[in-house]
Amino acid sequence: MSRLIEGRTIAEKVYAGLRSEIAELKKRGRTPGLAVVLVGDNPASRAYVRSKDKMCRDLGLHSVKLELPADTTQAELLARVRELNGDPAIHGILVQSPPPKQIDEAAIVRALDPAKDVDGFHPTNVAKLALGDVSGFVPCTPLGCQRLLIESGIEISGAHVVILGRSMIVGKTLALLLMRKGRGGDATVTVVHSRSRRLAEITRSADILIAAIGQPEFVRAEHVCEGAVVIDVGINRVDDPMVERGYRLVGDVAFTEVSEKASAITPVPGGVGPMTIAMLMSNTVKACGQM
Ligand code: NDP
Repeated sequence: MSRLIEGRTIAEKVYAGLRSEIAELKKRGRTPGLAVVLVGDNPASRAYVRSKDKMCRDLGLHSVKLELPADTTQAELLARVRELNGDPAIHGILVQSPPPKQIDEAAIVRALDPAKDVDGFHPTNVAKLALGDVSGFVPCTPLGCQRLLIESGIEISGAHVVILGRSMIVGKTLALLLMRKGRGGDATVTVVHSRSRRLAEITRSADILIAAIGQPEFVRAEHVCEGAVVIDVGINRVDDPMVERGYRLVGDVAFTEVSEKASAITPVPGGVGPMTIAMLMSNTVKACGQM
């Protein structure tokens, strides 16, 4: 049976560190400020925005929650982004994804001041990640995965890390992060995706296997070698008439059978999820400190 990598506990440790950094900044008259912009009324997005706002308040950060109607135009949203770019009380800006279809999300991201892009998707920050420039912002979920590994004492340097999935939000940026030179990097990284051949053969060669494909319980025991570390980024709803809300959350990994072989594994929920929001707070504090 494997060791459980508890994201909630590690996130608490991150918050403890952030609280002292925030206290130091406040002594110098600076309060980190995060603005989260929500366009429309997607219930999942609304819940995410609420929890980000709550966490900001809990840490004593300045929090602005901007809720715009679903018919907001591209020009109106760009105007709000520019206002926030120019607001000295705001150090981090996040436009909650996915926006309604009339919005060109990539253009909105490009309009952000890269120094306030705490989500890390502005081309300047993506380039900094690729170039190994640590002044940039790294997307929160990959950063959270890396931090989970570091805090759990798992050796990344020299390890073969296999990442399932090549999205910008997780797989591709995580690959760049873990192959970067220096602490938390120096891994040998392989990325597999829906076109990859011999997928199970490749995943079985991983010392660290990270699943981010959005396929419920796709990773089975046969994909994992004995003693591997398994990080499950997936969050999938599956119907379950036995529970009151009618569904339950599962990861991309078949937890029970994989945990029989892995040396350490993250649960879903309670693994990568809590780290994503902790890294957003961390990026906001970093942004304030760099301004
Ligand atoms: P995307 O749909 O953007 O990307 C999925 C990736 O997985 C693609 O690269 C796709 O390949 C690959 N893929 C899909 N099916 C297979 C398969 N059968 N075999 C191999 N590769 C496959 O998803 P995201 O990256 O946005 O999210 C992935 C998961 O992570 C989701 O469950 C999501 O909910 C979760 N997530 C969790 C977060 C957290 O905070 N814990 C944050 C963000 C996401 P191809 O490119 O070839 O299509």
